[in-house]
Amino acid sequence: MISLIVHGGAWDIPKKEIKAHRDGCLDALNRGFDMLSQGMSAIDTVEQTIRLLEDNDTFDAGFGSHLNAIGQVELDASIMDGKTLRCGAVAGVRIIRNPITLARKVLDHSEHVMLVGDGAERFAKQLGIDSCAPVDLITEREQLRWEGLHKQGKFVTKDAFRRWEVSNDTVGAVAMDRDGNICVGTSTGGTLNKYPGRVGDSPLIGCGTYAENSIGGVSATGWGEAIIKVVLAKTVIDMMERDGHDPQVAAEKGVKVLHEKAEGYGGVIVLDTDGNFGVAYNTPRMARAYRNSSMDAPFVAV
Ligand code: ASP
Repeated sequence: MISLIVHGGAWDIPKKEIKAHRDGCLDALNRGFDMLSQGMSAIDTVEQTIRLLEDNDTFDAGFGSHLNAIGQVELDASIMDGKTLRCGAVAGVRIIRNPITLARKVLDHSEHVMLVGDGAERFAKQLGIDSCAPVDLITEREQLRWEGLHKQGKFVTKDAFRRWEVSNDTVGAVAMDRDGNICVGTSTGGTLNKYPGRVGDSPLIGCGTYAENSIGGVSATGWGEAIIKVVLAKTVIDMMERDGHDPQVAAEKGVKVLHEKAEGYGGVIVLDTDGNFGVAYNTPRMARAYRNSSMDAPFVAV
């Protein structure tokens, strides 16, 4: 059995952006599934699949991410290997196009789990990862969105998130390879107009990302401040371990906990050791696609 599930964020994805989200998720899924079919490991597949999503400006990850309060892009990403529990994460990077690859380098070549800001960028240089100018990560769409907000003096607040007025499009992937190894990755530009230096759940192991071969894998998306409070990814993994490994039940229970305990909105994608999926969200929409070797065709929905 091989299995792959990807997400392109939860929130109120505007109608005119639905097709781009659907197409972006489906394309990344199809290409990732081909890699797994050809025998690629779960960890390589997750890295490559997330790179495709980061390079697609539809999503709030890599190129095309939301700008922070001072008009910069700051990127966060994490990756976890369910076989060894090794993980790598970066936060607040401004000159790296594919932060998931930098997170992978932290996993492979560092004795640490997480590097932030200047230190992460220095590490990237040492390892020969391509850098770019900060402005290269900014799209016209996001620049105009940011200028519009600032002109109107309208800022995104906690309440706006609760009323679902903002669309965010963090990306994530969970894969299981032929050897039963499970890997999870998550990558984001974070929330629109965030305070410079703000870090959400996506690069935090246990919050946005968690994988353990004997249980499954989870990637989360949504309001990071709430997701952190309930340690959402690990909470879902623990529910699977305790309650008999049903990924759909665990996904739904996890989102319920997010809402009940932290008034949070968002969603999760879940994979279990049999290659079965779970998806739950309490936002108007969530972009996701999945396929395993017992399915004839991929499933995609927004
Ligand atoms: N969870 C991300 C963050 O708070 C945003 C998102 O998933 O849309 O940074």
